[in-house]
Amino acid sequence: MRASSNSSSSRMKSVQDSSGGLWDSVKKAAFVIGSGLFFLVAFRNSVTWHLQRFWGASGDFWQMQWSRLYTAFDGNEASLFFIGTMLVPTFCFWVFNIFLMIADTTGKPVFVTRYRIQQDKNNPVEVERVWRAVKVVLCNQLFLSVPLVVLTYTVMSWRGEPCGPELPTFHWVLVELAVCGLLEEVLFYYSHRLFHHPFFYKRIHKIHHEWTAPIGVVSLYAHPVEHVFSNMVPALIGPVLLGSHMATTSLWFSVALIVTSISHCGYHLPLLPSPEFHDFHHLKFNQCYGVLGVLDRLHGTDDKFRKTKEYERHVLLLSLTPLTKSIPDTPIKQE
Ligand SMILES: [Zn+2]
Ligand SMILES: [Zn+2]
Repeated sequence: MRASSNSSSSRMKSVQDSSGGLWDSVKKAAFVIGSGLFFLVAFRNSVTWHLQRFWGASGDFWQMQWSRLYTAFDGNEASLFFIGTMLVPTFCFWVFNIFLMIADTTGKPVFVTRYRIQQDKNNPVEVERVWRAVKVVLCNQLFLSVPLVVLTYTVMSWRGEPCGPELPTFHWVLVELAVCGLLEEVLFYYSHRLFHHPFFYKRIHKIHHEWTAPIGVVSLYAHPVEHVFSNMVPALIGPVLLGSHMATTSLWFSVALIVTSISHCGYHLPLLPSPEFHDFHHLKFNQCYGVLGVLDRLHGTDDKFRKTKEYERHVLLLSLTPLTKSIPDTPIKQE
């Protein structure tokens, strides 16, 4: 009897506990969610506030630098445009590629070369072969890029002021970069596919494909016609259509040249955009024609690529282990 009353009272207590516990949990949850929401709102507001302050402050900083430069050049917009859209991007291209060429021809530093995509190739690359590519690239830049940039300045001056004293806002620069990237994807994809038509391939595009395992500088190693229509025009069209400020155009050209160098460099390095896509194009010729891959997906020109190990490795590398090790060609058998 005693035992049963004990057990019933303990059952009552456990019911009370559980209802009390439930209520407590609800209160705790409400407190946690409520305070969480409060902090989230406060955090969001402070983040927006800090970002606005940061962009505002950095915007002022860049505007000050630009005003100084503008005054130093006495408003000579043609010179400013040429320096910004030709010399600065070209300088970025060569600094990056000289470093890559040292790695290509010496196999050092190992920290870079251990990330080689086609491991049995370019180990190391012959200096004469690199030098031949460098000469063609320099000719393309000097005899085609320079006149085209001058022509671009003339066209852009007709329709606006490409080097005005006032810089665009940071957000507008981002919008323009996105539009330029999309326009380049469309124009590069279709012009590139056209260059793969047998008629144009053997006359024009074959030169660029001499490198089945490309290196950075090969990004501009191309027939003059290809350099104009596939390399220059797709990149120029955005700033011309948008009437971009020289600062945006300079940034866009520099980014585009570094990105195309990365996509040809042959090393899948940590924290850099994956070069697997275009490297696969050089390896297989009839896959992966675009830059971003959007149009390849649409036209199914990446169907073979998507069944390969290279596709599995086509990610942003976030560790120090080369993807050829973490995703080997022939999977290591599990014991
Ligand atoms: Zn290429
Ligand atoms: Zn091609």
